[in-house]
Amino acid sequence: MPSPRRPLLAAVTGATLLALVSATTPAIAQPASAGAPAAEQCSDEPRDLPVHEFTDHRELGNELARLERVSAGAVDVTEIGRSNRGREVWAARVGTGPKAVLLTSEIHGNEKTGTDAILQVLDFVGTSDTAKAKRMRSELTIVAIPKMNPDGAELDRRGNDMRWDEVTARFPQLRGSEPAWNYYTEPRQGDDYSQLPGFDVNRDYNPDLNYEPKAEDFPGTSADTGWYITPESRIVRDVYKGLTAEFGKVDTYVDLHHQGACYVMPDDPDRFVTMSISGKFVDDPATTPGYEQYADTYDLDYAKQLNVAVYNALQGRANNNPLFGNITLYPQDTNLPGTGLGSFALNGSGSVLFEVRGQTQTLGQKYRTQLTRTVYIGLDGMLSSIASGQIGNLDPAVYDSIPPRGPSIGSASRTATHVLED
Ligand SMILES: [Zn+2]
Repeated sequence: MPSPRRPLLAAVTGATLLALVSATTPAIAQPASAGAPAAEQCSDEPRDLPVHEFTDHRELGNELARLERVSAGAVDVTEIGRSNRGREVWAARVGTGPKAVLLTSEIHGNEKTGTDAILQVLDFVGTSDTAKAKRMRSELTIVAIPKMNPDGAELDRRGNDMRWDEVTARFPQLRGSEPAWNYYTEPRQGDDYSQLPGFDVNRDYNPDLNYEPKAEDFPGTSADTGWYITPESRIVRDVYKGLTAEFGKVDTYVDLHHQGACYVMPDDPDRFVTMSISGKFVDDPATTPGYEQYADTYDLDYAKQLNVAVYNALQGRANNNPLFGNITLYPQDTNLPGTGLGSFALNGSGSVLFEVRGQTQTLGQKYRTQLTRTVYIGLDGMLSSIASGQIGNLDPAVYDSIPPRGPSIGSASRTATHVLED
């Protein structure tokens, strides 16, 4: 797919352009200006866009059951728990190899391509007779938890669906505490949380996998660990603990996200970033007070090798589709031990973040096929490399040469009231 842009618009005058843009994309507030060819065509302003082509919760259940059937059980699907509103959370396991790989998607319910890509990975690994698939099955045990926040996903929003009084009912020791800092009760990304509050589940993890919520740890901050107060994070934590007990460690953990729609390549403001990736989420535990106990297990170099495998796979397809070449490194100055990636990286998993372009409130299902394909190619390349052992030959230093994410040129990103979230 070509980027949605320039040639047509570049030829018309500013006044015509403004009229044209206003007629076709009412959310765009900024008029065109000379020298900013792409800016007027991208906005992070929330809109209500169609998402029905993505896989919803019911369809996910049907599709997982189908995969279990057509793979003659090679894909083994189990219900591993229920969301706060009682929806099934499923895990699909495929392969019998010694290396455990955990994949999760839709921890943010408005970030949907990961779920579709996971279904394609399960289909290939579970049913293909190719040597590649056979090697993945014999070398890896892949456990996927697609749509791990189904309540948020059904509401098509970032947070889950859970009130603070439901937290304190479950954890009476928290009565009287200030609610967690990541509790949403105000409008956000175009969603009104005042009637249906919820939590950013991706700040609810703790590297201490046996942590239980304590009043003195609230409300916390972005730089602190989380608490496992949401059913959704506890479900994933329990799977992670089970795999650790079974395999000694979880070799690799991948969490599939989306970011703002309007980031551009650092050297070309006309090319939007298709996906950013990262292997670094926390400060080095060896030199961070309170985290020293994780210094021996933390393996940033392995995370870098995994990212290089993702990057190489996509660069290898850029001739077919230039979008696959527009891959950048996610900002490296983050310290988020309360994320799943941060907590599991500290526990020794090579951890990989995918940040695909545009959440549902900015792009809807537009570009779904290409963006899902981007995720699939990245996952496939990484899994192949782990299964073949080639991962160990990749140079971690290549990671540091992946281009950094350029600026966001979207109009909404320039307004103080709008928060760009990943
Ligand atoms: Zn996200």
